[in-house]
Amino acid sequence: MAGCLSEADFVMVEEGFSTRDLLEQLTLGTSQATTEEVAAFFVADLGAVVRKHFCFLKCLPRVRPFYAVKCNNSPGVLKVLAELGLGFSCANKAEMELVQHIGVPASKIIYANPCKQIAHIKYAAKHGVRLLSFDNEMELAKVVKSHPSAKMVLCIATDDSHSRSRLSLKFGVSLKSCRQLLEDAKRNHVEVVGVSFHIGSGCPDPQAYARSIADARLVFEMGAELGHRMHILDLGGGFPGVEGAKVRFEEISSVVNSALDLYFPEGCGVDILAKLGRYYVTSAFTLAVSIIAKKEVLLEQPGREEENGSAPKTILYQLSEGEYGIFNSVLFDNTCPTPILPKKPSTEQPLYSSSLWGPVIDGCDCIAEGLWLPQLHVGDWLVFENMGAYTVGMGSLLGGAQTCRITYAMSRVAWEALRGQLLPAEQDEDAEGTCRPLSCGWEITDTLCMGPVFTPASIM
Ligand code: PLP
Repeated sequence: MAGCLSEADFVMVEEGFSTRDLLEQLTLGTSQATTEEVAAFFVADLGAVVRKHFCFLKCLPRVRPFYAVKCNNSPGVLKVLAELGLGFSCANKAEMELVQHIGVPASKIIYANPCKQIAHIKYAAKHGVRLLSFDNEMELAKVVKSHPSAKMVLCIATDDSHSRSRLSLKFGVSLKSCRQLLEDAKRNHVEVVGVSFHIGSGCPDPQAYARSIADARLVFEMGAELGHRMHILDLGGGFPGVEGAKVRFEEISSVVNSALDLYFPEGCGVDILAKLGRYYVTSAFTLAVSIIAKKEVLLEQPGREEENGSAPKTILYQLSEGEYGIFNSVLFDNTCPTPILPKKPSTEQPLYSSSLWGPVIDGCDCIAEGLWLPQLHVGDWLVFENMGAYTVGMGSLLGGAQTCRITYAMSRVAWEALRGQLLPAEQDEDAEGTCRPLSCGWEITDTLCMGPVFTPASIM
């Protein structure tokens, strides 16, 4: 969708520089007074999103990507994905409004929430969003009444028992109950046009996709027997967002492609989609958070001393964001965020046992423990990578900032690739067959550049 994103929407990073330089400019350039005001902000590399998209197209050429808006609804992300031509998967009226506001047509929106509020179903009907998901007869009855021209996608349960974040505990109908629902739909003259599933996030076994694709084939056959013309298969999300994931995206893709060839071969007339969240945005966002308070606690360990002869201690640092906000992945995904220090400590600096805490006054708001850090100070910045998924808009309601400022950036090469909608030949792939960076990545330079690195446009 050309024209969604313009150069005014982000900082252009010129060749030879990186978003790390931008982050350093923003943190080192922050005065004490500003640190007191702004205790956390994101730098978002939109080039990383573009690169993910090209990798997706290359690895899963038969799958049409939709973006799960709830994962990160920031304007820069929505605009770049709209510009790349993605569809959008919305969970409620607010998300539909948001993407329609940037010009996404209703035909590119799926209202993919099996539990919908009636007012939101009516909004979808009024604004032309026709593809909705369901997994029970009550939901079907609501849609029959409020959106009779809707086309429904049946959401089936998966065995996500090994996934870190499980969806089928709440969503999805078992294979056993599918026929009944398809019959109900037929009786009520509701068109069921497809099947969706979600294998959960952080799934350690790519074969879970293959099993669900096989299940979907069975449901397609049931549907056909009952006279439904089913032509959409939605593979859901759960594709990893970080490079070092246990199961690589390329590995999952190869399992998915084989299963599609077996159960939904090319030319079978089925439109295959996926609704990805974390895959697109996790690695694009870097968070800088400053230390707002600190406390030293002496450890009562007789006979043990620090190298400098003082009593052993542990240092508790408090940040303005915690588990109940931006760092919710500690709670939900069992992650262990590790900070990067903007200034590399010298080898002579002693390290202290340290922990990081969020702003909520309870003993659970712990972000990370067991760290060995040099002595840090109130106002110092800590940097966390891979912070793009389920973080934006999650600023701690309990004592933290509610929204965090975002500075978007993109390398010129990514911007040109985006405008041409093609991966430049020399960037295509490395020896291992994985896509090489188009992002203004951290890998380009480690040195701090305070010169005229960035063209002036910036949205903060
Ligand atoms: N589709 C649905 C229905 C979801 O509920 C979610 C996330 O919860 C997604 C897609 C995106 O999942 P992920 O971020 O793991 O790609």
